[in-house]
Amino acid sequence: MSCPEQSILFINPVFKQMLWGGERLGKDWPYEIPGNDTGECWAVSAHPNGDCTIKGGRFDGCKLSALWEKEPGLFGNTGLDRFPLLVKLINAEGYSSIQVHPNDTYAKAHENGSYGKMECWYILDGREDSNLVVGHNAETREELRSMVQNREWKELIREVHVEKDDFIQIEPGTIHTFGGGLMILEIQQNSDITYRVYDFDRLTDGKPRELHLDKALEVISVPSKPLEHYIKKTGNMPENTMNLLIECDYYRVWKMDINKPFTIEQDQPFMLMSVTRGEGTINGTVIKKGDHFILPYGYGDINLEGDMQVIASACNCI
Ligand code: ZN
Repeated sequence: MSCPEQSILFINPVFKQMLWGGERLGKDWPYEIPGNDTGECWAVSAHPNGDCTIKGGRFDGCKLSALWEKEPGLFGNTGLDRFPLLVKLINAEGYSSIQVHPNDTYAKAHENGSYGKMECWYILDGREDSNLVVGHNAETREELRSMVQNREWKELIREVHVEKDDFIQIEPGTIHTFGGGLMILEIQQNSDITYRVYDFDRLTDGKPRELHLDKALEVISVPSKPLEHYIKKTGNMPENTMNLLIECDYYRVWKMDINKPFTIEQDQPFMLMSVTRGEGTINGTVIKKGDHFILPYGYGDINLEGDMQVIASACNCI
């Protein structure tokens, strides 16, 4: 690594139109979006449903999944059979479906060897009426089953107001959805397995989206843990340092609010970074809101400078 600043891997995101999406990814973020119902920017993804490409440098245009296979050394030779994480920006103008994700064991057995999905959300922006659903009110599995069968959604789901700087960890088995007016940075296992429980009776092209009640009822945890278990306030964390937001079996996530130069070390197999506010430099290279990039294995010292927020993540794989 004689010239580390050349080895930053910048990423071209992939966009997804959603019935609950909006236009903010094209208005408040520097992206060309496919329509005014754009709900997700897959910012760092090697998933077959949205495989990002590398932007610039010697791997320009290469798919992230291909780079992961051909150049494992860039990612610290983890031995994993696929790129482990997926980072998304989400613009939710309406509610997503009420859903749940399986864990690795269930997904491996029932979803062709897919990963399960642990995910976490950092709230970038919200409105006074922006809510999430996190967990449910049923005390037993029988009660859960009967509330689902009787469509007692209002009584079943646990809705909570969230605001900018809230951080939420959604474990597999946790029933959840995000509501209107939220911009979210999501970091998750590289999986696209979702079991839809309720979709607010909406129609797409005249038809309801498929529900997956049988599988959902098998994987939903009962009872739900208290809300404090899932939600953390992060607005008062110190500036110009790496603040660890979460460490779980799959990933670590840090928040950095930068207004003075500081240096950290790339001591992970590889590190993902997303600039979520402002602009600055990393080892002299200009970075700005909306940039997503990977710092490969052995990158060394990271000098950050400017007025910006960076959310970083790494897999917890070795
Ligand atoms: Zn989810």
